[in-house]
Amino acid sequence: MAAQERRLPTFDFQPYDLPPEARALRGQVRAFLAESLTNKPAAERARSWSGGSREFSRKLGERGWIGMTWPKRYGGHERSYAERYVVIEELLVAGAPVGSHWVADRQSGPLLLRFGTEEQRRTLLPAIARGELCFCIGMSEPGSGSDLASVRTRARRVDGGWKVSGQKIWTSNAQHADWMIALVRTGDGEQRHAGLSQLLVDMKSPGITVRPIANLTGESHFNEVFLDEVFVPETMLIGAEGDGWRQVGAELAYERSGPERYLSSIRLFLEFLRVVGREPSEAERLLIGEMTARLWTLRQMSLSIAGRLAAGENPAVAAAVVKDLGTTLEQDIPRDVQAIAPEGDEAFHRTLAYLLQTSPSFSLRGGTREILRGIIARELGLR
Ligand SMILES: Cc1cc2nc3c(=O)[nH]c(=O)nc-3n(C[C@H](O)[C@H](O)[C@H](O)COP(=O)(O)OP(=O)(O)OC[C@H]3O[C@@H](n4cnc5c(N)ncnc54)[C@H](O)[C@@H]3O)c2cc1C
Repeated sequence: MAAQERRLPTFDFQPYDLPPEARALRGQVRAFLAESLTNKPAAERARSWSGGSREFSRKLGERGWIGMTWPKRYGGHERSYAERYVVIEELLVAGAPVGSHWVADRQSGPLLLRFGTEEQRRTLLPAIARGELCFCIGMSEPGSGSDLASVRTRARRVDGGWKVSGQKIWTSNAQHADWMIALVRTGDGEQRHAGLSQLLVDMKSPGITVRPIANLTGESHFNEVFLDEVFVPETMLIGAEGDGWRQVGAELAYERSGPERYLSSIRLFLEFLRVVGREPSEAERLLIGEMTARLWTLRQMSLSIAGRLAAGENPAVAAAVVKDLGTTLEQDIPRDVQAIAPEGDEAFHRTLAYLLQTSPSFSLRGGTREILRGIIARELGLR
């Protein structure tokens, strides 16, 4: 009977209105993007946060649009989460080449702010906020993806630090990155979650080999990274030795909650609106209505999470819901647009082809759909 009496927990998505300062900022970001992204073809804009330019990142840094919420003493700008949300939203909708600083701004910087040493914060955070540093995420390994606690890359204690050996895989931007935050095994421990630590690895260190992996489009965004006795100084440990599992959990929460989890196909939707023009057919109207309603709903949910983050909460399960629904939308847009795509218009078809080839990965990166649904089911008391 107890099971019948139990009430399912519900998700708390409170409406959140952007404050006036965030709305004012939107106009400035739009004006800057209109000026700096002229003549950028739609298919290139469709690369969204996969496309990167160091020069563009520096320009954003100069405007104070990286590390926006961080303390000024670490090069940040002490702006609100709502203001950051607006900047990210505008960058994604415009298809700006944000990939060079994306990981550093979204998760490596916040991770260092929370767990890093004072020296790490003082040396790295200001350079990230200036748009000068590219970070990559060294979590996945062959055989360790969803089951991340099984990582085998090992860090062995030596005089003054560690020697790291092993292999990472699917490491986005490793070929361009200055730093990797690597999850490595520093201890043996009875429990496999224990004995994991996070290290800052200088990607120029001897012993590192990066091999690009081509995706379906023929481009290489992610890589294999081989580490062969790579020396990492003691000062490059993040947080406490053996605390890597807990820290990675916090890092993934940053990774799953932003508008990039429902806007990856927005360029195709905008192109679709352009080519169908002012008199869409019945099927086109239905699709536009459905996608607009879903985008609007996801935006409200995502904004509500931004509001909770701003209030210092950790809405990890709500973020998993948005990522699951959001990546489903990002995959439905190319599939449903293709089903009724009008003939002709090269820019539209190039954008469609690109997103048809890349969208299968949207529900894998940052944690697969099945893993997210497992997290949601646990919160609902269903497993
Ligand atoms: C575009 C892209 C970029 C990426 N960038 C990075 C990066 O920068 N750094 C990084 O470290 N990693 C990166 N990844 C890797 C990504 O995090 C992993 O691919 C993902 O976590 C899944 O791991 P896997 O590929 O080993 O698949 P597996 O974990 O082997 O999963 C295979 C299938 O089994 C399912 N499955 C696994 N376990 C369960 C379970 N318990 N219950 C139900 N179903 C289950 C999965 O959902 C999936 O469908 C990237 C991946 C992609 C596609």
